[in-house]
Amino acid sequence: MSPSRVLVLNSGSSSVKYQLLEMNGSKRLATGLVERIGERTSLVRHTPLASGGETRERTGQVADHDAALKAMAEELAADGLGLDSPELAAIGHRVVHGGKRFTDPTVIDEQVLAEIERLIPVAPLHNPANLTGIRTAMALRPDLPQVAVFDTAFHTTMPESAARYAIDVRTADAHRIRRYGFHGTSHAYVSRATARLLGRAPEEVNVIVLHLGNGASASAVRGGRCVDTSMGLTPLEGLVMGTRSGDLDPAVIFHLMRVGGMSADEIDTLLNKKSGLVGLCGDNDMREIRRRIDEGDREAELAFDIYIHRLKKYIGAYYAVLGRVDAVAFTAGVGENAAPVRAAAVAGLEGLGLAVDEGRNAVRGGGPRLISPEGARVAVAVVPTDEEMEIAQQTYALVGKNN
Ligand code: AMP
Repeated sequence: MSPSRVLVLNSGSSSVKYQLLEMNGSKRLATGLVERIGERTSLVRHTPLASGGETRERTGQVADHDAALKAMAEELAADGLGLDSPELAAIGHRVVHGGKRFTDPTVIDEQVLAEIERLIPVAPLHNPANLTGIRTAMALRPDLPQVAVFDTAFHTTMPESAARYAIDVRTADAHRIRRYGFHGTSHAYVSRATARLLGRAPEEVNVIVLHLGNGASASAVRGGRCVDTSMGLTPLEGLVMGTRSGDLDPAVIFHLMRVGGMSADEIDTLLNKKSGLVGLCGDNDMREIRRRIDEGDREAELAFDIYIHRLKKYIGAYYAVLGRVDAVAFTAGVGENAAPVRAAAVAGLEGLGLAVDEGRNAVRGGGPRLISPEGARVAVAVVPTDEEMEIAQQTYALVGKNN
């Protein structure tokens, strides 16, 4: 039998998350992470799903990404799933920024590495960490195909009218300033899963996908192709997020520089790490915000209202962009779990054919499900995202094609 397992790696600057998947039957065999790489209190957590074993955790310094991947390899080997297994078909890497060039998953070679490196100026936080993960994995298994799956790829179908900012074209082109969008793997997976839930082909349906996690983005998907998304040059644009501001008047930045005396780096940190829900009320976890609202906390309530107001604006905007909407799909940590967010986001949109059935919306957990009332003009759905499965499927399909 030909090898049918894919290892999916998501390498951040101080963490590596991994999943090993069996593609025959789409099963997850193991999952784990290494956190706080480089610190003395690094954490290695591994769950051997195939054997149904207990999650194992240990702390102690994991010096760098090389040591992190070796720790992962040891954990996998302890379950008989080592990286030397002949059943391993490929390693799929999540890469945040693929620019305009990478529109599809791509087998990694030196040229591809160089191009990902060339994109570092537009993704300074993410691409270097992704590259480190790839290089380390290539050193561990140089014979194995390694595939890059880009967060931006799904959005490369956006028309120029949605992808361009209205700034001087020469300046924009010189610095590769345009709207790239992120969370693309999730938007691709969820828009297709939503079509499946409706019993229709992705080519036939128009979907607004609301990926609401700690980072959050919306996308307008027409017949399976993205036509607009809320994140832009970086993941800062768009919705109110856990710690990011989302949209704001760009003049706020000059004002903070000229009047507030802040540096570019300080403003970068303010807008990316100290804004959004955490900036508005001190908490970025929606569970905590809802608990505070239930206790009558006005600050938490205002933060929630601002979050919902922005979300509603994007639903309306993408309704207009698409013209006809078949479904609105909620996904990621907040979208999958926070019923009050879903109810508030579509409240008052009956005129657009959008409504939520209270009983259906209150159901917790489970797979993709409709939460709109029976016979609604537009389906409202909760569709759990699965970025690892999507990366594994894209990787496996590409490697299979090349064999
Ligand atoms: P993600 O980035 O997709 O992992 O989402 C993380 C966010 O999901 C957290 O910051 C929480 O705000 C939110 N979240 C997770 N579980 C719940 C829940 N049961 N109710 C409300 N929000 C939740």
